Amino acid sequence: MEEPPYAPAFQTGPTQELEAEIQLRLQLHPDTTRRIGNFGFIELESAWGDEATIINTARISTTNMRIDSPDDFTDRDRALLYHLLKNNHGTPFESVYFRFRMVAPIFVLRQWMRHRICSFNEFSQRYRMPVTAFFVPDREARTVDGFEVMTDEQIQRYTELMESLHRFYHDCYDETKARIAQAEEAGEIPRITGGRNPYRARARELLRNAMSVSTYSDVYWTINFRSLMNFFDLRRKPNAQYEIRQYADAAYGMFEQRFPILSETMNRVLSERRGDGEGGDPIG
Ligand SMILES: Cc1cc2nc3c(=O)[nH]c(=O)nc-3n(C[C@H](O)[C@H](O)[C@H](O)COP(=O)(O)OP(=O)(O)OC[C@H]3O[C@@H](n4cnc5c(N)ncnc54)[C@H](O)[C@@H]3O)c2cc1C
Repeated sequence: MEEPPYAPAFQTGPTQELEAEIQLRLQLHPDTTRRIGNFGFIELESAWGDEATIINTARISTTNMRIDSPDDFTDRDRALLYHLLKNNHGTPFESVYFRFRMVAPIFVLRQWMRHRICSFNEFSQRYRMPVTAFFVPDREARTVDGFEVMTDEQIQRYTELMESLHRFYHDCYDETKARIAQAEEAGEIPRITGGRNPYRARARELLRNAMSVSTYSDVYWTINFRSLMNFFDLRRKPNAQYEIRQYADAAYGMFEQRFPILSETMNRVLSERRGDGEGGDPIG
């Protein structure tokens, strides 16, 4: 059956600006960006260090030998990389960092933020109005073994409910702004010129509570490879929720393209840990 078209009936200017920015990033950086779901997005914006950084960091203990780039990797270097990862010599893997930006529903970010060994910076609904886009599950997201757990009619009602929440927020906020202006006019409260208006800010703080966890947010995520590997291991497994898995798989695709030796080594070690790999003796 054809996918019912999802056309948001209510989109504010800042949300349209965010959409335009996503489109621009997709156009400029097709290899390191990906659209996810109906409004989601992920980009590998920066990465610091590479496989050579890890090897050089590890070799501080034993030798002055250093290599300039992964292009210079020998079999010996590959074996060392595998040996370190396999045997939990973890700190050299903390010398490589990644910074992703993701536009994701709050319910996905709530799971994501359980990963503590990394840094997040999130869009603020205290200083800014919420993104007026929310997650709408497509047919694949709502199908289990060929059975649709939500009907088109239910999705329609869900969509209307989410839109009504966004309209509620904006209607209340407009009313509050008008009341603040009246109170300023009447001299009941000081007139705030420039800077942060505490009355409006408090209204945003309270009204954001009406936003559903399906609302999209915008986040920077900075993480070292050791912790990223743990994230891939946990969030790319079939038992991880479908929506976070889509982001994790997209992040993995970008990582794999840029770090082929490291991703191959990681996959080998993870698959051996799970007991589904080819095995192999630890290389000393
Ligand atoms: C399928 C799935 C279902 C889940 N269900 C639930 C659920 O129902 N409820 C729930 O609360 N969570 C749930 N989680 C979250 C899960 O328990 C972890 O909190 C999350 O995956 C982050 O993993 P982590 O702690 O290894 O990562 P990080 O927080 O990034 O930590 C990385 C590593 O650092 C070390 N570390 C970090 N902090 C400490 C510490 N305080 N003490 C000792 N070592 C530390 C550990 O070795 C850890 O593995 C679920 C996760 C998955 C993948």
